[in-house]
Order: sequence, then structure tokens, then C-alpha cells
Amino acid sequence: MPVADAAGLVLAADAMAAEQVPPFDNTAMDGFAVRAGDTAGAPVTLEMIGTVAAGAAFDGVLAPGQAVRIMTGAPMPVGADAVVMVERSTFDEAAGRVELEIEVAVGNHVRAAGEDVQPGDLLFPAGTQLTAGHLGVLASVGLSTVAVVRRPRVGVVSTGDELVDDGRPLEPGEIRDSNRRTLLTLVAEAGWEAVDLGIAIDQKAAIETSFLEGAATCDAVLSSGGVSMGAFDYVKVVLDEIGDMRWMQIAIKPAKPFAFGLLGETPMFGLPGNPVSSMVSFELLAKPALRKMAGESDFGPRVLRATSVDSLGHSPDGKTHFLRVEGEQDDYGRWTVRRAGGQGSHQLTAMARAVALAIVPDGAAIEPGDEVDVIILR
Ligand code: AMP
Ligand code: MG
Repeated sequence: MPVADAAGLVLAADAMAAEQVPPFDNTAMDGFAVRAGDTAGAPVTLEMIGTVAAGAAFDGVLAPGQAVRIMTGAPMPVGADAVVMVERSTFDEAAGRVELEIEVAVGNHVRAAGEDVQPGDLLFPAGTQLTAGHLGVLASVGLSTVAVVRRPRVGVVSTGDELVDDGRPLEPGEIRDSNRRTLLTLVAEAGWEAVDLGIAIDQKAAIETSFLEGAATCDAVLSSGGVSMGAFDYVKVVLDEIGDMRWMQIAIKPAKPFAFGLLGETPMFGLPGNPVSSMVSFELLAKPALRKMAGESDFGPRVLRATSVDSLGHSPDGKTHFLRVEGEQDDYGRWTVRRAGGQGSHQLTAMARAVALAIVPDGAAIEPGDEVDVIILR
């Protein structure tokens, strides 16, 4: 991959340096390149024999008693071994003289060649997720391409006879498809390639066609709907017939129904249909797997401790609840959270407003002022 396009991707191989950084000894300050010994007993006056800018090189050798005016980043002239910063000098260009106020040691303000990177250095190991700093280092050693784990291509399909996605007025019993929009966006926000596989009606043939297309063109497929106990929930049936199906009911609320299977090599995530459930299911179950596919090593959800303003407990029902909460962080990073609105699995507005999911263990009594674990959503 060109380094220019690699932000956020994960190294598939160790990144090694072929060049040294800095490439040559240079000055860290604007000032005068000198022989350190000539500054003994400062103030001293030296002969000023030239000026060297960054990008140029001093043509000649600095002899005892001489100084070269030098700009930050310019190569050290041959013969010079230290720099006196310009603020500690007074110079007379016409007379070709400079007075230096201070005595300096060998190496003063000199950045040695290879001080940051040596040829053959392991810059970053395979598995590193590339951020701005990493890409800068790769650029500094002249690497224009880098071996990375491919961005997963993730197909998204909605299932359901009731779904409408063309903006026309709704007929009785119809609703608008929102899951495809949320899931495609969640995939894109994670930095992966989102592939719209459209809507499949609640018929085995339609779901099969869509799953086969997804498996053939994508690294993973997310479907929503059709995984619970209804008479027309065919996702598990189809996955069972054409793939290796493992389905589960998970002791959480929302997002209890879930189907996972493999179609050939392609993982298929059958997320629940309710709009909040499909998002929560994505966050908890699909996203960690996709992050692992993308080469990330730290792929679990980010759980933090927060203080709740509201009462968040629930009576025992055998499930861990994930409540949609709004909130903010104070200047020290401590989170305060409160209910984001209606907590039904069909009430997507609360999910849209939420910054986190509060993890409420079965039967927990979380009262105002109590602490609660939260999963940060953004
Ligand atoms: P299902 O699991 O297919 O029975 O769907 C559960 C609930 O989610 C039903 O009320 C569906 O109408 C609704 N639902 C399913 N898919 C979508 C979708 N793509 N967008 C919005 N709601 C959906
Ligand atoms: Mg359905």
C-alpha cells in the first residue's frame, strides 16, 4: 500500500529502515559552526568565512580560528564540531568577524547522523496500527510503500418483507430500512470498506442469493433481522443449508438473538433486526471480530468506569443489560452518564444520542451517584 493511504491500517510485516535519520550531522540551532576548542576563554572573536543554509552544504574546510554562519538543519561544515546559537553572538558581516559570548563543548547543538534511526533498525513490528507519527517515520526513511493487512470488505444486507428503502409512502405494515444505513456507516467509521448488499425479502432463495453474493465479494457479511424465533426468520435456516451455521441466544438485552456462521471461509454475522439491537450486536460481537480480521491486536470494546446520575438497575431476568447513556467527561477524564432516552430496542433515537453503553449486570441496583462500567461508542 502507498504510505500515503496507510493511515489506520495495521502492518503485515516488520517495517525496517534502509536509511539513517538524520542523514548527516547537522545543526539544531541557527548560529555559528565552530571548533569547540576555539571558544575556550570566551568571549572570543573568530573569522566568519561564509554562510550555509538548510539544503546547502558548506564548500570548504573550517580551519582553527574560523566560524561559518549556519541555519537550523544545514549540514555541519567539515572541520566544525560545535554550534554557538545566534543569540549568543554579535557579528559584522562586512568585516567578516563574529564575537561569541560563550564557551561550548564538542557536539553542542549538533544532531548526529543516525541519531534517530540506523539502517537496519526495526522501526515498528508487524501488528502496529499506523498513526500519523508512524507514517512520518516511514516517510523520513524514504519508504513509499508498506505491507499492511487489507482493510476488510464488509457486506451489509437487510432482511424483511416489511422494509422500504426508496422513499415512497409506506403501505400498511411497511417500515423504512434503517439498519443498512447504520451498519454501513459503522463499518465505514471503523475504516473498513462497506459494501451495500441491499434488501433480501423473507424468502430462503432471496437470503441465499444475497449471502452467496456477499461471501463471493466480501471478507465478512453482516445481515440484520430474521434471526429470532419467528416463522419467517430464515437466516439461520439458510446459513445451515449453505454454510457452517452456529447460532446463539445471548443473555444480554438488547441483542439477544444472534447467528454466526461461515460460508466457505467468509464469516457471516446474523445480527438482530431491531434497530438498537443490531447496533449493539455489532459493537459487542461483530466489531471485535472485524478488528481482529483487520490485524488489530487490541480489539475488545473500550470499557471505562463512570458515575451515573440516574438509577440504572433492573430486576433479575438472567441478562446483562446495555443501556444507552448520554454523558460527558470532566477535565480529568472522569465520565458522568445518564439515560439517553427511551430504552426500547426499537427506539433508535436514544442510541443515536448515546455516547456509551452502560453495562448493568443482572439484578444490579445502580443508584444515582453509583459507579457503572460503560463502553464508549465514539
Ligand atoms: P426480525 O428479527 O426480522 O423479526 O426483526 C425484528 C424487528 O426489527 C422487527 O420489528 C422488524 O421490523 C425490525 N427490523 C428488521 N430489519 C429492520 C431494518 N433493516 N430497519 C429497521 N427495522 C428493522
Ligand atoms: Mg424480519
